[in-house]
Order: sequence, then structure tokens, then C-alpha cells
Amino acid sequence: MTPKIRVEKLQEGLLAKRFGKRILFCHEVGSTNDWAKELSKLGAVEGTVAVVEVQTAGHGRLGRKWVSPEGGLWFSVILRPRQHPLEAAGLVFVAGLAAADVLHDVYGLVVETKWPNDVLASGRKLCGILCEMSTTGEKVGFAVIGIGVNVNFEVKEVFPKSLASTATSVKDELGRAIRLEELLRALLERLESVYDLLSERGLPAVIEKWKKYASFLGQKIEVTSVNEKSRGLALDVDGDGALLLKLDDGTVKRVHVGDVSLRRE
Ligand code: ADP
Repeated sequence: MTPKIRVEKLQEGLLAKRFGKRILFCHEVGSTNDWAKELSKLGAVEGTVAVVEVQTAGHGRLGRKWVSPEGGLWFSVILRPRQHPLEAAGLVFVAGLAAADVLHDVYGLVVETKWPNDVLASGRKLCGILCEMSTTGEKVGFAVIGIGVNVNFEVKEVFPKSLASTATSVKDELGRAIRLEELLRALLERLESVYDLLSERGLPAVIEKWKKYASFLGQKIEVTSVNEKSRGLALDVDGDGALLLKLDDGTVKRVHVGDVSLRRE
């Protein structure tokens, strides 16, 4: 069977200088983030990519399952950030901005970012992001950005009913399939340039651009953390990536990136 992602074809004309110079591809692994973490420990250089056609144990935050059938784009990029771990925690916004830019600018999709780590289209999840880091004291040993995009399948055909009602795919949105290797090439180029923006101008510059997709700002939302629920008006996302939520009693709560999920009320 011909692979859906031809690495040499992808690398032809790749404009990124570091991201995607080395790409490891196989049909199926448990999770590309887990694979990339193993590769990082073995010394893989910044920009190394692990990409597969199927993940059998894809995961989101807190070990939540990320369903990853054939036809999607499931990949991870290895980074060796020089920033302090607190600033490197902003990589989730680097990934979200890069994905939103590509899906919008290259494919014409109307997308929005959901704080902190998802990209939606038509109010449904199109792309999931999972950033993981290994730190020693004040330094980041390596970081892995994992990105999963539902691409060339219709969600109602491949996902269980409950998930099909909250997810969407490029095919569902555009009414046609696209080339996975072209999408990956564009994402790697964009990721590299947004990552460079983070290194040169810091997280506030990335957040500023990310906010143009943040349609939830100005809306009433519900934020769920591990053990509490808060409702309020989404005022802003500050330069550290924290969400400013105006509660009903008028106080402003600063919610840090963590185990938080957002819901429009
Ligand atoms: P959250 O939306 O709470 O930030 P995560 O980022 O941890 O969640 O992603 C895991 C959740 O995403 C799962 O619990 C499931 O609801 C949903 N999900 C799993 N696979 C997919 C997929 N391929 N497309 C869209 N949503 C998915």
C-alpha cells in the first residue's frame, strides 16, 4: 500500500530550515508524543518530526484518549527551547497559532482557538494539541509539540456518535480531501516561524497574534479545573497565557493553563 505521507516528497521544497529536516515516519505507533519523547532522550535534534498514519493510543491532556484513525495527520515535533520552563509552557500557543494560520490562510477554513489548546471549526474540534516538556531545575531538556488534525475522513463515519457531535474534519468542512504531506509541510514551516517569534519577541507577541482567532473572548464561558467550576466573562488572555475571567461578583480571576476546559454558556 502506498503511504499517504511521502517524506521525500514533503521535504522537497520545504522552506523550514530546522523543522522537518529529519522526519521519522511509520504506519502506526501508540502515540507520536511518546515516540518523540523516546527520540529526544536518545539525543534527537531540534526540529525532528515523528509522524504516523494511525495512533493506537493517542492521548490528550490527563491521559484522555485522542482518537487517531487513518486519514488524519498525527505528528510531533521535538524542540530544545532555551527559554525558562515557565515561558516554554507557552508552546501550546505557538502550536495553536501555527495550526490556525495554516488552516485559515492555506485552506480558507474559518477557525477559532479554544483556550488553551484546541483549534475549532464550526464550533467543533478540528485539531488537538498536546505539549509536553522535560525539565531539570530552571532548564528545559526537551519539549514535544504534538498536533493531531482530523483531515480526510468524515467524523460521522469513523468516530463514535458522542465524539462525532463535538468534532469535525477538514473533509467535513471543505467537502473534499486534501494532501496530508502538503498540510504537514505548511504546518512545519509555520511552526518554525512562530517558534522563532517566541524566541525573538517572547510569549506576549505570540499571544497577541493567537488572540485574533480567540472568538470566545468577550463571551460568557464556563471554566472547569480539576476541582472547581467557574462561570464568567472571558475578558482576555494575558502575556503569560493566563485566562482572565470576570466572575459574576465582579472580581477578575486569573486562570492558569492547566487542566481547564472551556464551554460557551
Ligand atoms: P480538552 O478538550 O478537554 O482540552 P484534550 O485536549 O485533552 O481535551 O483532548 C481529549 C478530548 O478530545 C477527548 O476527551 C475527546 O472528547 C476529544 N477527542 C478525542 N479524539 C478526538 C479527535 N480526533 N477529534 C476531536 N476531538 C477528539
